[in-house]
Amino acid sequence: MNDLETEEKVDVLVIGAGPSGTVAAAILQKKGLHVKIVEKQKFPRFVIGESLLPRSMHNFEKADFIDVIEQAGFQKKYGAKFADKHEICDFDFASQFSDGWTWTWQVKRDRFDHILAEEVMRRGICLDYEAEVTAVRFNQDGSSVTTVEKAGCTSDIRARIIVDSSGYGRVLPRLLDLDQPSGLPERSSFFCHVKPKEVSDDKERMRIIIIVYTNDVWGWVIPFADGTSSIGIVGSPEGVHRYEGSKEKQMRKWIAEIPALKERFTDCEMVFEPRTITGYASAVKQLYGNGYVLTGNASGFVDPIFSSGVTLATESAALAAELISEQLAGKTINWEKDYAQYILGGVDVFKTFIEAWYAGDLQKIFFSNSPNEKIKQQICSVLAGYVWDSGNPFVKKHDRALSNLVKVVSY
Ligand SMILES: Cc1cc2nc3c(=O)[nH]c(=O)nc-3n(C[C@H](O)[C@H](O)[C@H](O)COP(=O)(O)OP(=O)(O)OC[C@H]3O[C@@H](n4cnc5c(N)ncnc54)[C@H](O)[C@@H]3O)c2cc1C
Repeated sequence: MNDLETEEKVDVLVIGAGPSGTVAAAILQKKGLHVKIVEKQKFPRFVIGESLLPRSMHNFEKADFIDVIEQAGFQKKYGAKFADKHEICDFDFASQFSDGWTWTWQVKRDRFDHILAEEVMRRGICLDYEAEVTAVRFNQDGSSVTTVEKAGCTSDIRARIIVDSSGYGRVLPRLLDLDQPSGLPERSSFFCHVKPKEVSDDKERMRIIIIVYTNDVWGWVIPFADGTSSIGIVGSPEGVHRYEGSKEKQMRKWIAEIPALKERFTDCEMVFEPRTITGYASAVKQLYGNGYVLTGNASGFVDPIFSSGVTLATESAALAAELISEQLAGKTINWEKDYAQYILGGVDVFKTFIEAWYAGDLQKIFFSNSPNEKIKQQICSVLAGYVWDSGNPFVKKHDRALSNLVKVVSY
């Protein structure tokens, strides 16, 4: 095939069809821009990240995705429950401090991402599966030529701007040498989907639960509407991989070891062989440049503990799309202030909570005997993803508010 024959021109090229890519593309199309998505894999494809946060609903709303997700009948999520060996700390999103959505969903991402991808295609956006971005050349004016490989053929796509939503693929960070150390210790996760012998329709059993195992290891149970659940163990690589044997044997040892898992998942069927992801924390030197914006995991990832990934992925996508449409309409955008500082401000709030979790401080707060209702609502808001609500002291002065509270509950 002749390269020239396959060259396309678009306003915006989106790399990756995860939630970040589809939210960005849908909003850009609503603004009247000509958008194309290139996606390396064929959907449906597995990706981890199954528990959403209420804040992400605002972004799905901006992309007009709520109805199509609702129709799919995913398990609804109304709060977050943390348990250690003796106690439970229950957060109900209906009692959060910030205004906004008070519920969301627990989703199998293969189906969820596929639904969003099909929806943007139904709206007329060209989404090319099994099309991998392998190179990009930028011109001085920020326009670019992207090389895409598909079925052994190479083609070029000219775009006025690129949205890199390539998730763990991290296309532009790799091609433009934007990676930088995350500064976080290496952690590992070990997870699978399981089908319990007895499926329960008990509402409590359909709730996500985060289990504190030891200071350096915690686990998740995320029940799905079809009766299966995602279970995962996260922590230091030595902590997570302390057992020997096949991956299934190791997972069965974890199930036997943690009472909340043992009771529900002994003799369960494993829907797929347990998988490991290690060293997922990442960061970049810059979130934008002349002719591109990084959104979602391509712009960095901190830790799975508070299920922040899809919320940050869609928040950055929705904001990038708004700013791009203004820029392409001729407005000068202050990307540092209006994009990078805003997104990283939210990431910083999550980071403070994540560091407090791994230091054991957050557990002290969660399982303290004297919960102050107002403070619980403010913390609940952060756990619901409202990390840009500057009226919340646990957002505005997250470092100080959390360290002061730890001192109080430690007395
Ligand atoms: C152990 C673990 C547990 C997690 N749990 C949660 C959770 O409960 N809740 C939550 O919100 N988040 C969670 N996350 C984070 C979540 O996985 C990500 O934040 C989220 O998937 C990011 O979405 P995205 O759209 O940026 O990227 P993705 O969903 O990864 O999509 C990126 C897409 O880009 C495509 N791509 C890659 N390279 C190329 C290329 N060269 N050319 C074209 N396409 C390409 C990929 O095929 C992929 O489909 C977890 C992460 C880990 C590690």
